[in-house]
Amino acid sequence: MEQPTFPGRPTSSFPTAPKASAPLRSSGPIVGLDGSIPSRAPTPFASSGPVAEFGSSFTPQTTSPFFSSVPAVGPQPANFGELPPPIRPSGPSSPPSYQVQNVGSYQQMQPARYHPIAQSSVPLGSPPFIGQPRGSPYTGSFQPQSQTPTVSMGLTPQSSSQMIPRNTVPQLSEPSFTATKIPSQPPLHAYSNVPPRSSIPSFQPDPQFHASGPVSQPPMQGFTPAHVPARHASPYAHQSIVPPPPPIGGPLGYTSRDQLQHPLTGPPLGGVQSLVEEFQSLSVGSVPGSLNPGVDTNLLPRPLSGDEISTKIPEMYHLNCHPRFLRLTTHAIPNSQSLFSRWHLPLGAVVQPLAETPDGDEVPVINFGPVGIVRCRRCRTYINPYVMFTDAGRKWRCNLCSFLNDVPAEYYCGLDASGRRSDIDQRPELCKGSVEFVASTEYMVRPPMPPLYFFLIDVSVSAVRSGLLEIVAKTIKSCLDDLPGFPRTQIGFITFDNTLHFHNLKSSLTQPQMLVVSDLDDIFLPLPDDLLVNLSESRHVVEAFLDSLPVMFQSSVNVESALGPALKASFMVMSQLGGKLLIFQSTLPSLGVGRLRLRGDDLRVYGTDKEHILRLPEDSFYKQMAAEFTKNQIAVDIYAFSEKYTDIASLGSLAKYTGGQVYHYPSFQVAIHHEKLSYELGRNLRRETAWEAVMRIRCGKGVRFTNYHGHFMLRSTDLLALPAVDCDKAFAMQLSLEENLMTTQTVYFQVALLYTSSTGERRIRVHTAAAPVVTDLNEMYNQADTGAIISLLGRIAIENSLSQKLDDARQSIHLKLMKSLKEYRNLFAVQHRLSGRLIYPESLRLLPLYVLALCKSVALRGGYADAPLDDRCAAGYTMMILPVSRMLKLLYPSLFRIDENLLKDGKESQEPLIQLPLTALNLDPKGIYILDDGFNFVIWLGRMLPADLVSNILGADLAGVPDLSKAVVFEHDNPISKKLLMILNRLREKNFSSYPSCRLVRQGEQPRELSLFLANLVEDPTAGSSSYVDWIFQVHRQSQS
Ligand SMILES: [Zn+2]
Repeated sequence: MEQPTFPGRPTSSFPTAPKASAPLRSSGPIVGLDGSIPSRAPTPFASSGPVAEFGSSFTPQTTSPFFSSVPAVGPQPANFGELPPPIRPSGPSSPPSYQVQNVGSYQQMQPARYHPIAQSSVPLGSPPFIGQPRGSPYTGSFQPQSQTPTVSMGLTPQSSSQMIPRNTVPQLSEPSFTATKIPSQPPLHAYSNVPPRSSIPSFQPDPQFHASGPVSQPPMQGFTPAHVPARHASPYAHQSIVPPPPPIGGPLGYTSRDQLQHPLTGPPLGGVQSLVEEFQSLSVGSVPGSLNPGVDTNLLPRPLSGDEISTKIPEMYHLNCHPRFLRLTTHAIPNSQSLFSRWHLPLGAVVQPLAETPDGDEVPVINFGPVGIVRCRRCRTYINPYVMFTDAGRKWRCNLCSFLNDVPAEYYCGLDASGRRSDIDQRPELCKGSVEFVASTEYMVRPPMPPLYFFLIDVSVSAVRSGLLEIVAKTIKSCLDDLPGFPRTQIGFITFDNTLHFHNLKSSLTQPQMLVVSDLDDIFLPLPDDLLVNLSESRHVVEAFLDSLPVMFQSSVNVESALGPALKASFMVMSQLGGKLLIFQSTLPSLGVGRLRLRGDDLRVYGTDKEHILRLPEDSFYKQMAAEFTKNQIAVDIYAFSEKYTDIASLGSLAKYTGGQVYHYPSFQVAIHHEKLSYELGRNLRRETAWEAVMRIRCGKGVRFTNYHGHFMLRSTDLLALPAVDCDKAFAMQLSLEENLMTTQTVYFQVALLYTSSTGERRIRVHTAAAPVVTDLNEMYNQADTGAIISLLGRIAIENSLSQKLDDARQSIHLKLMKSLKEYRNLFAVQHRLSGRLIYPESLRLLPLYVLALCKSVALRGGYADAPLDDRCAAGYTMMILPVSRMLKLLYPSLFRIDENLLKDGKESQEPLIQLPLTALNLDPKGIYILDDGFNFVIWLGRMLPADLVSNILGADLAGVPDLSKAVVFEHDNPISKKLLMILNRLREKNFSSYPSCRLVRQGEQPRELSLFLANLVEDPTAGSSSYVDWIFQVHRQSQS
């Protein structure tokens, strides 16, 4: 058996992270794996609320979340491998299983279908796996360690405590405010409302700015990192609402003298100072709407260096978790409803709880042992760096609710002269924004589940002919050593066409047996016990099955697909344990419950109030199944391959409500998609997965998370149920103000993800962050995070497209952008007579471009003909889970010219590529360009390229390759080809989450050039939408009106 090849991906792309890489400085040692398998221990189920423990407002569900939808089948077996007798998914009236009339409906060991393999001399794979050393699995970024028995110290929640007045909240963040720099500015006398200098703390000259004296030119680039903090704390801060005139900046780094219209004698201090730093403007001519107003398109802001995570925040709040885990749309929370109402953009967060971390920066694991995890008795916040110890170390005050908690005796430590615990540096939970706690049995409603992978594979004729069965089977087989959770990992398979095929993988067999059930209306499991098996025990049978899968259905001409019944059967197999269900679907489900119509796309409904229905699941069956799956801790991933309409809208809802993912390979071709599918399926199987998880994000008084966006099921008002979650998933949430006027100076956020690791340990990953409460709109603008805003806006727009026309969904994003820029403009433009300039804060300089790109994204662009409906829906599902940087790259892909590098020799050929603006204007017909959106590469070949260059890449003359849609880029024996592959590999190494496949397109080759390449050049007018330049005019015009 060949190992999987991921060309371009060095084997080091699956770094072997050490099992116990995280520093452990907690009170309880992490005990090494002691051989006992926790899930098999007859741990008594906690009767009420391990999950309830997890949060303050969660209604205890006892064991119902896990077993509610399944008829009870006697006492729970202690051994997870044991399944009860056949289970029917619904209907108490269902007769007992193994009905006589069903027996005839399946043929055991159907020779016609299975024997060519079972009886052939095909090797059965490697010997049983038990006891063999395992390869090192790729474990992603979070490293569950050995399970450690812990005993709770029994902190019981108390709700009778009196509220502590909010003004007693310790201002822990204050020191970090005052420590940051305020740039030196000449004193300002003209504005009486500016606070005296003495009221501003920690004033330090900024050397970069020092020379400029009275400002005639704004201190643009040199200043932005050293941002002015803490103005909100000034009692005078509110007075800066009416600002003095700021100087006018040139766009970005292009500050030029001729753009300065209002040189000032010196900018003011305090809140106004921020404007000097952040204020940007762009001349858009004096005639609004004129097409020739003299904009230099080179000056338009562009994200040519990728996602920019603000470095300001970690400097100001060095105790915060890293922004890779949590990003706020603005790191400044408005203090009042009226201020909030002037913000117009979404206020909220994007959370990626398991984001991959660079080596050496792993999240520390803490085991409190018998002490139990220290949490606030009132609001259940986890202890974190922002709590304050008082009373000589005997009490700690919760930073979210101000409650004064007792320090458990075992956790006690004295305070030093400055009031800090003297052991603070040894306790990650008190000095790191991200930690992971080992959870005790309190946090379990049942023994931790084993990792479980169940595969549901469409084997109708389209799947067989496409060749994907072989790739799927080989990839799964190649991953068997690396599936997380050895030796507890469970595995199983169902294949289906117009019947369901169950596969008996019992370890005592030498080869698998197939059992066929043709009764689709009354699904039952013909063999309840051995459809789901322990991988290490049944390894040889599993391998034999995977070896035979590609040829098992070779002669099938069956066009039908009974996905719905197959889903029900999978549910029956998995419902006791939960796990991951991976569905490989090649055609439209056509039989049984959940069959779908070829409703397809319909030009006539575009623009009507029925348009959105196309993007909604057609049959409520899928949503209902998703709810059942989630209740039973089953996450569903959909792999869809059809070249025809498959109703991704309906199928995707299975992933949407179960924390899963939609993988879409439209018009699957082995040659083109082989590596992509193999890599992405491999990553899905190998990466560390957090099982049976729930996530909650808490925040301090005065604010509240109201809406959540992503793939999950909301359980209670603020608890996200995530049957499985991994490092590639992100979630977004919107924040609202609960009070008219907030009196605190800091708002704290805490994300807590409770999950079962693959090693069978309950863990709680906790990220804590603080943000200042501000009184000044400018501060909100200055601390805005365009990436987070776009991630949230994009998710909201996609959700809106499920209840509105596409055009309406786009318009509502436009409107938010316009209102926001108008509000900003109103702060300055009038007194500066800036009618010919678009002005915007530095932090949002890319917002207009990204909003434009969002409206041109596959999910939201144009109308009927601008994207196939399935592509559109798949893109929407994908964007709902993307982390910020991948979202930005998808919206504004990287474009590079590569022909010059290909022709260079030696080291020169490896010079870094220069990212180009996304416009066809700069394309040279003599050039080769590559477009990389993180999911696919498109190589564009100019019309006037030298023939030998093209033939070196293709391995044949262009004339000999009539159809580039089938052309595959692989290495040929010439230097040009080798260099090209090297470039592709380097680009792939920047992104482990996905494997871009590579398409070739020639200049002028329509319609491929348009759909694959030109439609992604978002600065050009496409799909009836504006060019970037026109868009800027439009934005400018509307923000003035
Ligand atoms: Zn609290």
